Order: sequence, then C-alpha cells, then structure tokens
Amino acid sequence: MKVVLQNLTKRFPNRNKKIREDVIAVNNFNFEIPDGKLIGLLGPSGCGKSTTLNLISGLEKPSEGKVFFGDDDVTDVTPENRGVGLVFQNYALYPHLTVKQNIMFPLENLKGKDKLSKEVMEQKALEAAKLVQIDQLMDRRPGELSGGQQQRVAIARALVKMPRVLLLDEPLSNLDARLRLQTREEIKRIQLETGITTVFVTHDQEEAMSISDLIVVMKDGIFQQMGKPQDVYDHPVNMFVAKFLGTPAINMFEACVKDGFLYFGEEKILPVPGIKDGEVYAGIRPEGFVLDENGPLSCDLKAVEVMGRDTSIVCRNPSCMTENIRVIVNSDRALNSLSGKVRFSVKPAKLHIFDKTTEVTLEREGV
Ligand code: ADP
Ligand code: MG
Repeated sequence: MKVVLQNLTKRFPNRNKKIREDVIAVNNFNFEIPDGKLIGLLGPSGCGKSTTLNLISGLEKPSEGKVFFGDDDVTDVTPENRGVGLVFQNYALYPHLTVKQNIMFPLENLKGKDKLSKEVMEQKALEAAKLVQIDQLMDRRPGELSGGQQQRVAIARALVKMPRVLLLDEPLSNLDARLRLQTREEIKRIQLETGITTVFVTHDQEEAMSISDLIVVMKDGIFQQMGKPQDVYDHPVNMFVAKFLGTPAINMFEACVKDGFLYFGEEKILPVPGIKDGEVYAGIRPEGFVLDENGPLSCDLKAVEVMGRDTSIVCRNPSCMTENIRVIVNSDRALNSLSGKVRFSVKPAKLHIFDKTTEVTLEREGV
C-alpha cells in the first residue's frame, strides 16, 4: 500500500508555557512511501519522527494537509479503520495475558461481519507467531520472556490483522546491542516475506541505513532528503545530512576556493571545477583520505588504532573544525612505522563542499 503525505503539518502548543509560539513538529511534508518498501524515518530526538508516524496511523490529527493510503484519503479515518499495525519502543503487552492471547487481542475486537471464530483467530495468531519465531512460547506470559521475545510478540500482534501499513517507532531501543542487531535483521526478513509497506522510525543512522530500502532524513520538523541509503550518504543535499550519516562522522574543514582549486589554508587540496571563488565548508569522509607522501594535506599524527580489518588514524590539521580528524584505511599497510607528520591526498568522490551561509551542498562538475 502506497502512502502519500500531502502538505502535512502538525503544530502543538508549546510545552513551555512561557513560549507563546506553537511547536511545528511536522512542517509541510510532501513525500510518497512506495508500496511494499521499508522506509527508515531518521533524525535526531525531537525532530518530529513520532509525530509523523502518528499522523500516518491516525493517532494524531494533522493541523493541515492530508494522508493517502493508495488513492484513499484517510485523513479523517480513525486509527482502527486505517488498517495499520503499530509497534512502539516499550512493548506494551498485557501482563496478565499469555503470548497467544496478546497476539489474538486485536482480532477479538472485530465486530459484525468481520467477527472471527475462535479457531480462525488461533490459526492467525499461530501464523503471526511463526513469522516472528515465537510459536514455541504461546502459553507464556510477558513476564516470562526476554526483552527481545516481548518485542517479537508485539510485532506479531501488529501483524495478526495483516495490516496495510506497518509502523514501528524505535522498536529496538530497549534491546541490548546484540539483540538489536538480530531483531533488526528479523524485521527486514518479515518485511520481505510479507511485503507490507513499513515505516521504521529511528534516531540511529546505522540502524536506518542497514535495513531500509529508502531513508527519509528530517531535522526540526523539516524534511531534508529521501533516497536509497547509499545515495543519500554519497550525495547529501546539505551539511546536516552529511554530518548525520556515517560513523565516524565526516571531517569538516574551513576552506576556500580560488581559481577552481580548493584550499585548506595554504594547502592546495584538489581542483573543484564549477565552484565559485570564496570561503566554503568542506567535508571529507573518513574513507576519503589516501596516505600519500606527496599528498597536499599535511597532518600531525596523534594515534593509530587498529580495529581488525580497518585502521583508524587520528590526526590534526589547523583547518579542521573539530580537534581530531578521523581517517579509516585498510589495515594491510605498514602503519606502525607512521610517526610525526602524515600526508594525504583526497578522493574527489568523498569530498563534499557546502555554502558557508546556507550549508547547502555545492555541485561540482564531474562528480
Ligand atoms: P521525535 O519522535 O523525533 O523525537 P516528536 O515527534 O516526539 O519527535 O516531537 C517533535 C516535537 O513536537 C518536539 O519538539 C516535541 O516536544 C513536540 N511534541 C510532540 N508531541 C507533543 C504534544 N503532544 N504536545 C506538545 N508538543 C509535542
Ligand atoms: Mg519519538
């Protein structure tokens, strides 16, 4: 089921009573979630992710704009009648009910012609439980399950009615690191198996990048960019997106363009055809540096950290806007002998240049 957000806006009265202006949690969103895809809705805490999800589910009414499921305008349809499955960070299971009863619960509420027999309900609950691999635990109560198992029950409960759209709000935040990895792969598998259009909210860029077909990056209620994770990483529209995606983060420099060349101070880094002369911000991804005795960028070496497959080089340069530059290179080099100064050249595709006022990406020729 395709989901379309049209001029969607949500304002709240400010929680801080001294501030008269409303908070615009979602500011004029216009985008389309394609049928059968998993979309990662990504941004820092407070940027309006949950509000967006609640507008899609119908738990919140928009201040302006519309929500469509396929061609149906669902803006005035209640959450129960939209056909959405919801999963939240805290699993919100009924503690006194068994796993089976928890999963069956949404079916028990069906009325009139939709009412199901007990047998059919049990069958559907079992199918949902199998999908999330908890069909062995049907008679336990939530208190007898681990966090990961409880979250699977919550997902099964959201799936039991075969929703048109599955909405997940930071569903992995309460799980420990290993379980988080495992459960996110499970969610990806379940989404592929069922083909249900899914919106997955997270503030964790790595989580969003790893499982999403498309990511939507937002900031302060404002849509920034939508695209395949790798495309957004490679072609961020602005400095916020560039900095938000990637660990270690992109390294930012105060820079200057003169006669088609990018300079860090006196260091002539690269030709940047198509960019006007003047001051700019330049960002280089950690994997964008090449150790090169004759390279233009000279840095003071601080540390070499071997991390298995990769090695992290921590170094400094006066033009860098943070104290340390983080460089990632393959480990199979004679890195231990490095000391004092190191020199790099820069991979053009891993360099991004931003307008100093608007922080919007400046397009170069040939990249
Ligand atoms: P996120 O999920 O990205 O952390 P939210 O959607 O929860 O962000 O919140 C976005 C903004 O809207 C925040 O500034 C938050 O304080 C505000 N907000 C959310 N819900 C309400 C509400 N019911 N009343 C007032 N302000 C709210
Ligand atoms: Mg939230």
